[in-house]
Amino acid sequence: MFEKLIVLFYYLKQKYQRRFKDRKSFERWQKNKAIKFIRKIVKKSPFYEKLYQDFDLNDVSELPIIAKKDMMQNFDTLNTVHIKKEAAFNIAYQAEKDRNFTPKLQNITVGLSSGTSGNRGLFLVSDSERRKWAGTVLAKQLPSSLFHHHKIAFFLRCDSNLYQSVKSRHICFEYFDLLKPVQEHVDRLNQFQPTILVAPPSLLRLLVDQQHLHINPDKIISVAEVLEDVDRKIIESYFSKKLHQIYQATEGFIASTCSYGTLHLNEDIMMIEKEFLDENRFIPIITDFNRKTQPILRYKLNDILTLKKEACPCGSYHLAIEKIEGRCDDIFYFKSLENDKRMPIFPDFISRAIICSNEKVTDYYVRQISDDKIEVYINQTDFDIQGVFKDLCQKLGCICPDITVLETKPTLVSGKKQKRIERCCDD
Ligand SMILES: [Zn+2]
Repeated sequence: MFEKLIVLFYYLKQKYQRRFKDRKSFERWQKNKAIKFIRKIVKKSPFYEKLYQDFDLNDVSELPIIAKKDMMQNFDTLNTVHIKKEAAFNIAYQAEKDRNFTPKLQNITVGLSSGTSGNRGLFLVSDSERRKWAGTVLAKQLPSSLFHHHKIAFFLRCDSNLYQSVKSRHICFEYFDLLKPVQEHVDRLNQFQPTILVAPPSLLRLLVDQQHLHINPDKIISVAEVLEDVDRKIIESYFSKKLHQIYQATEGFIASTCSYGTLHLNEDIMMIEKEFLDENRFIPIITDFNRKTQPILRYKLNDILTLKKEACPCGSYHLAIEKIEGRCDDIFYFKSLENDKRMPIFPDFISRAIICSNEKVTDYYVRQISDDKIEVYINQTDFDIQGVFKDLCQKLGCICPDITVLETKPTLVSGKKQKRIERCCDD
């Protein structure tokens, strides 16, 4: 009961939060909030205290930036509850092995991010942070009031105490394990009849191809993978609904769509600075106002986001995003025509070149395997792959790599995130 009341409190707080006169006054509030939060939390985290010792905490934009590597290397002294990395990993791995996702250590929820082994992140979330998260997500994404009945079908690689926190008397929450066969999902979905369907786009695509799926959710939310236009169109047309998105990472709840379907950064719960890659693309650097157990301060993510040029009709002051393009690691590099320099080719350049050249394409996959070699799969036999890449490279001023056409799409390793554009070389 207590738990639900707290979630409700944060739900209402989020729903009826203070309004600002304009973006400028909102930014002022945000900056003050960041300074206050950092001042308080730094004293509790030996890692940050040392890192910031020679800096003025009022000057947030001058504080050192950290990334996942720093977070993991200094895990033991960064968190404020004295949890050791090894103990946290052990309990999280065991939970994944047993498919029993309720591990806690010293009353703290422990979770693992996806990723290749050796590169996986750990997250620590206290009960209070968990409830706050649930209240915020519900306020931002429930299609109608918290007091109406909702049935959420939630597909992810792993479940967690975190997600289970949204359960209540009015909200039925069912976890669907991505590792289970799709026919089992169809049967369960037909029986459950969700009003909200939350899943990665690759699973949504798989579902819409099933003959015997009979569900009609009020809201569909794409999570965990890059949402490409080719998938969005097919999913939206199958359900005759707008496809919404939640951009949630181990590091926090970063963005979500408004009622118009525009992705807005969740700037009310975190400060998001931008490291620009070009005019519109940037890597977010986040400072989360909610995370006290494992502080996330000026933390640089590994994702590329593109700004939306037009203002959203919803009128929100929170920055609107056109697309989450993917991981920085998936930027391709081709050699420049002018000199020997390598030029970054953003994943979206490739996606666009493919879908704009032939509207019949409904499935594709491109991977770079070395500096001058790529492999391409397209589900259209009359598609001029060589021509499309030649044109793209000419436009960008780079040398077209050798292209190997794949007859079939490489099978996705069970539980792995689907990527349509992937860089598979090391440097
Ligand atoms: Zn909006």
